[in-house]
Amino acid sequence: MERKNVWTGYTKKNLAELEKLNKNYRQFLDKGKTERECVAETIRLAEKAGYRSLPEVMKSGEQVKAGDKVYAAFMEKTIALFHIGTKEIEKGMNILGAHLDSPRLDLKQNPLYEDTELAYLDTHYYGGIKKYQWVTIPLAIHGVVAKKDGTVTNISIGEEEEDPVFCISDLLIHLAGEQMEKKAAKVIEGEALNLLVGNIPLKEEEKDAVKANILKLLKEKYDMDEEDFLSAELEVVPAGKARECGLDRSMILAYGQDDRVCAYTSLEAMLDLKKVKRTACCILVDKEEIGSVGATGMQSRFFENTVAELLNCMGEYSELKLRRLLANSRMLSSDVSAAFDPEFAASFEKKNTAYFAKGIVFNKYTGARGKSSSNDANAEYIADLRRILDKKGVAYQTAELGKVDFGGGGTIAYILALYGMQVIDCGVAVMNMHAPWEITSKADVYEAKRCYTAFLED
Ligand code: MN
Ligand code: MN
Repeated sequence: MERKNVWTGYTKKNLAELEKLNKNYRQFLDKGKTERECVAETIRLAEKAGYRSLPEVMKSGEQVKAGDKVYAAFMEKTIALFHIGTKEIEKGMNILGAHLDSPRLDLKQNPLYEDTELAYLDTHYYGGIKKYQWVTIPLAIHGVVAKKDGTVTNISIGEEEEDPVFCISDLLIHLAGEQMEKKAAKVIEGEALNLLVGNIPLKEEEKDAVKANILKLLKEKYDMDEEDFLSAELEVVPAGKARECGLDRSMILAYGQDDRVCAYTSLEAMLDLKKVKRTACCILVDKEEIGSVGATGMQSRFFENTVAELLNCMGEYSELKLRRLLANSRMLSSDVSAAFDPEFAASFEKKNTAYFAKGIVFNKYTGARGKSSSNDANAEYIADLRRILDKKGVAYQTAELGKVDFGGGGTIAYILALYGMQVIDCGVAVMNMHAPWEITSKADVYEAKRCYTAFLED
């Protein structure tokens, strides 16, 4: 079962659409380096496309009807969008799901300290990372500081040309004899991920004068005291913009493509919809990288509650209707797949691996070892998806995450499947996933959006 490289089959029109989509995608990545920033940008784009806030519609007492477009965000980190179809909603929705959180380094609650006249911010990594990849690269700080008076300050340092950036140091090679003998997991350990933030001491200060100077700057620039770190969410991410990659510009090199590549293409497909029969829904969630936990992760009742509120706004709420609606729905649960990397060929099984430029990837199952913790999609559902995609000429491939017994991974798919709906894992192939800079193929970004559009319109 050979799959063709899609590039040579594209018309001029295809290529123009592909370039436009990828340019917008890079802008989305630049604007959204945290889940909060992604939700803010999603709201901006949705409102531009005619979406209204569901809580506000609820307040107005207005009834939601076919053709209406509404969204509900929660804690500024997760969002659900609905485009109401003409068909009875109880017959189910077509749902696209993806996650907005990405691996990174979070500042600890009490992060600031001084050692040998250098000031540092201590971090705790979020999600699965190879720690040694995060040293000696320019880093930015994004996030919020919430204060006791109820104000919340947005912070973003390190993205503008004139901004300073931050760095985690590594030992010079000349002295690294002992370090180089260590296992990769131990070369840089979690507790060593300390962000270098300053070296100028504050005059008149005797003890920790460099730290005191940093505190003075934080007060001046952000009106924040050291105690305010206690109620801050500050995320350390690679500094810099998403870039085209390769002499032929065929790829994208950027931070956070897991899973914003699926989130953005799902959102684009959703916002582009004209008129739908089945109600279309797009959910973009937080906390996938740490197990879909918390109020803003997929395991939260937020989604179910929001669908209940939506039904109520349509004048159709009942517990039974809600359950039927969810059970009759079908979903593309999108998360990135591992792209085959010839440099690490031994980790992949070539027949069942995702390749660049061969379209969106379907994973019947994910999980680890004997498919443990996976949502194993139904054959009948896959057959129906084949019908939809072949009819629209969408390029797709099927894959597993590497060789059997080599590792594995989970997604949000199994959580939605608990409602009894049809769910399958799919997404875009990514090279060096979870690294500070990840690579995708522009062609796959394009095919992902085409797939989502075909799915929502069916
Ligand atoms: Mn992911
Ligand atoms: Mn991931």
